[in-house]
Amino acid sequence: MIRNIVTIPDAALRLKSKRIGQVDDSIKQLAEDMIETTLDWDHDSEFGAALAAVQVGLHVKLTVVRSNFDDATDQTFLTFVNPEIVQRSSERVTDIEGCLSVPGYYARIARSKRIKVKAETLDGQEIRISLEGFAARVFQHEVDHMQGKLFIDMIKGPEDILELGEDQKLHPVDTIPDAILSSRQHTHD
Ligand SMILES: [Zn+2]
Repeated sequence: MIRNIVTIPDAALRLKSKRIGQVDDSIKQLAEDMIETTLDWDHDSEFGAALAAVQVGLHVKLTVVRSNFDDATDQTFLTFVNPEIVQRSSERVTDIEGCLSVPGYYARIARSKRIKVKAETLDGQEIRISLEGFAARVFQHEVDHMQGKLFIDMIKGPEDILELGEDQKLHPVDTIPDAILSSRQHTHD
C-alpha cells in the first residue's frame, strides 16, 4: 500500500522515533509499504534513496534504503530495524542531498565520510556494517530522521541550497526560501 509522505512544515517530522521491540506483521507490512511508497515517488530526474518510518507518520525506528544508488532501475532495498551509528569518522565530506519530506530543494551538507552501524534485520538478526561515501550519508540522514532532525537544520546559508527548477535541473538560490526558513531548527552539528 502506498502511504502518504509527510512533508515540511508538518511537526510530526520533529518527533523522535521509538525502538521496535518485536518485529510483527504490522512492521513487516510497514517496511513493504515504505518501499512501495519510495518507488511510487520516483519521477523524472529524482529518485528516492531511502525512507524512514517517520516520513509516513509512524514514529518507529525503521528505514528502507535503496541497494543501488546509481541505477534507478534496481528496485531492491535493504531494511534496517533500530539502526544506530556506533562510530563516525572525524573526516567529513560535503555532497548534495535531498529528502522526500522536503520537496523541491536540495542542499550541500557535510557529513562523516565513514561510519560503523548496528541494526537488526526484519528477521531479528543483528548486523554490524561499515559504510562509506553516499551510503554513509544516506544512513546518517535516516538516523537523523529518527531523532526528529532534518538536513535543512544543517544549512548555513543560501549558498548551501539548490532549488529544483521546472527544467528538472538544480539552481542556486539568493536567499533561504521561506519553506526552509520556517521549518528548520538549529543544531550544533
Ligand atoms: Zn529524508
